[in-house]
Amino acid sequence: MTATILDGKSLAKELQAELKSDVEAFVQDKGFAPTMAIVRAGSDPASEWYARTIVRTMERYGLQAVEHGRPADIAQADLLALVAQLSADPGVHGIMIQEPLPKGMDRAAVIAALDPRKDVDGVHPANAGLLAQAPPAGRGEGAPFFVPATPAGGMEILRRYDIPLSGKNAVVLGRSNIVGKPMALLLLRQNATVTVCHSRTADLPAVCRQADVLAAAVGRAHMVQADWIRPGAVVIDFGTNPVKPCPACGAHNAEDAAGCACGQPLDEVKVAWVGDVDFEAAEKVAGMITPVPGGTGPMTNVMLMRNLLAAARRS
Ligand code: NDP
Repeated sequence: MTATILDGKSLAKELQAELKSDVEAFVQDKGFAPTMAIVRAGSDPASEWYARTIVRTMERYGLQAVEHGRPADIAQADLLALVAQLSADPGVHGIMIQEPLPKGMDRAAVIAALDPRKDVDGVHPANAGLLAQAPPAGRGEGAPFFVPATPAGGMEILRRYDIPLSGKNAVVLGRSNIVGKPMALLLLRQNATVTVCHSRTADLPAVCRQADVLAAAVGRAHMVQADWIRPGAVVIDFGTNPVKPCPACGAHNAEDAAGCACGQPLDEVKVAWVGDVDFEAAEKVAGMITPVPGGTGPMTNVMLMRNLLAAARRS
């Protein structure tokens, strides 16, 4: 058996086309573009690159993103004041706090300074709490709230591929506030029976084998092996891990490794991105599976843009 590939890349393109026409209609109706502020401090190159990518991507779809970069030694009070000022600005509809924040900065305090109605990244405790309290599907809507873009994208893949969740066993690997935990709550809301695993879970492979739907958000290259997967299960891989694959033995080495344990030098080997699931082996067992790259990754930015449009509509 070979699994059906859950093609996040193509799906993201479809959603981008839908989003583009929704944004055009919004701009025509309201006379302004949904605008997001990206708050960043320090000079982490990955964070700078990601902020620039978001600005460019948003512009392509008629949305506006403005980067507010600050030096790493910005005082916490000044960063809090910036977030408060953007929260109060009626011309700003969404705010994203770019991680990592400088060492010593109280991350929780910075996030708490966000207006939850502009928290398009779904990180404010009010949004996390509303997600936790939202009624199950079919029992009303509850208050509107924002969901972090990555798990929202994973759920959208499940929805667009008509994958039934009600009454199914779902296992989520990872319990972070931005991926694992919200994914578990979203699956629960769709009436799945959810188990959440973490670094202290006993006999992880056995727990994973119970899953009709297995979502991995661990950050460990190829941790999930084929024999962890129940035949026919749906696998959603959020993992995005940089590795240097050894051309001689295939081992996944750390991205900065100069050589493999088998003796092969890796200086010339380019960094590749792999998921938490051993895709090649898993696709022979799973019923459906997201690839890495091209699965959950491309969905994340689209869901963030959808959140921004929703924030602007509500403003
Ligand atoms: P975190 O490091 O915040 O969380 C990792 C989770 O995995 C923790 O709950 C941790 O357990 C658990 N874990 C770690 N090691 C093990 C282990 N050996 N066995 C069982 N559980 C383990 O990561 P994130 O949630 O931020 O990210 C997870 C992955 O998703 C990463 O690869 C990241 O790059 C990717 N990601 C992808 C995005 C996308 O757009 N597709 C966006 C965001 C992230 P514990 O709580 O006990 O420490």
